[in-house]
Amino acid sequence: MRRIGTDESGKGDYFGGLAVAAVYVDENTEETLKSSGVKDSKRLSSNKIHELARIIRDNCPHSIVYIGAERYNELYSKLRNANKILAWGHARAIENLLLKIDCDTVITDKFGDEKFVADALMERGKKIKLIQRTHGEEDIAVAAASILARDAFVSHLSALSKKYGMDLPKGASNVISAARDFVAKYGKDELKRVAKLHFGTTNEIVGDYNRLWAPWRMEYIRVADKTGCIFCEAFKTDKYVVYRTDKSMVILNAFPYNNGHIMIAPVRHVGEFESLTDEELFDLIKLLPLSITKLKAVYNPHGFNIGVNLGRPAGAGIIDHIHIHIVPRWVGDTNFMPVIGDTKVISQSLDESCKLLRTAFGYKGK
Ligand SMILES: [Zn+2]
Repeated sequence: MRRIGTDESGKGDYFGGLAVAAVYVDENTEETLKSSGVKDSKRLSSNKIHELARIIRDNCPHSIVYIGAERYNELYSKLRNANKILAWGHARAIENLLLKIDCDTVITDKFGDEKFVADALMERGKKIKLIQRTHGEEDIAVAAASILARDAFVSHLSALSKKYGMDLPKGASNVISAARDFVAKYGKDELKRVAKLHFGTTNEIVGDYNRLWAPWRMEYIRVADKTGCIFCEAFKTDKYVVYRTDKSMVILNAFPYNNGHIMIAPVRHVGEFESLTDEELFDLIKLLPLSITKLKAVYNPHGFNIGVNLGRPAGAGIIDHIHIHIVPRWVGDTNFMPVIGDTKVISQSLDESCKLLRTAFGYKGK
């Protein structure tokens, strides 16, 4: 049977990225691969893998997709699911190979939801018959792909080791001391370029891995810890307060996710909605439609995210003074800036936002 086999390498390795390979096998090449000793890469030594990879590359049409650690982390922060990244890689490898050869059957090792790969395939790939089976690597085309993927992964990992002048080990169980050494030498922010941050290892070394991915939020928490409560502080100083009643206030987020990111908070320093009186609650909630109206008038957004984070595990920066976030959204604003750069790029200054919103709310300041 003429077919394409696909497999990946690196999903269980803390250091390095993810390699996905697709290999086309027909009657002739199948014999060549069998006589060379091609089998699942997990049952082969690294020298043998390297040797067989060359034979496969020389004899079979193939494609290799390599997702570097940094790109992997970006994808993970967006998709929040390693299997979806895998599926995306498999789909790209299949499509790249279909540009070189014509084939209607693809066999892949089964992982996650079977729909993931099918969903990730584009026009060309949608026409193929996709077979996902457990122990897929028993098929020689999948085994060949597993060898190419492992070889690509390992060679990228050794290039990384060389670049940083230290041994970045394979696997996920004996990586802690290497990761500690790496952070000691290059700083924790550099870790995202060499390791898959969602592994538990990251938390063991640097604490909350969100630190590496949402530094503007950490800054927010840091400022809050230093000054006590930013809401009580704002109520006193009036800084970035764009509207207030005697029970509630609307305040600009100093570390916004987007232009016009505001928060509604009660004046009283309380950490739970249950602690608010009916009057306070009503006054607070009335500010929601009012704020939406004003934000629409000033920013003309296409949508809003409105929400509350209660408690540190839920992502709350300030845990003991409740507040409701209102974030204006525009089509196309979900870019990778927040995870690539150190800070999110906000085109409008806070002072300018404050001025515009105060005018809209008709608030002259204290
Ligand atoms: Zn407070």
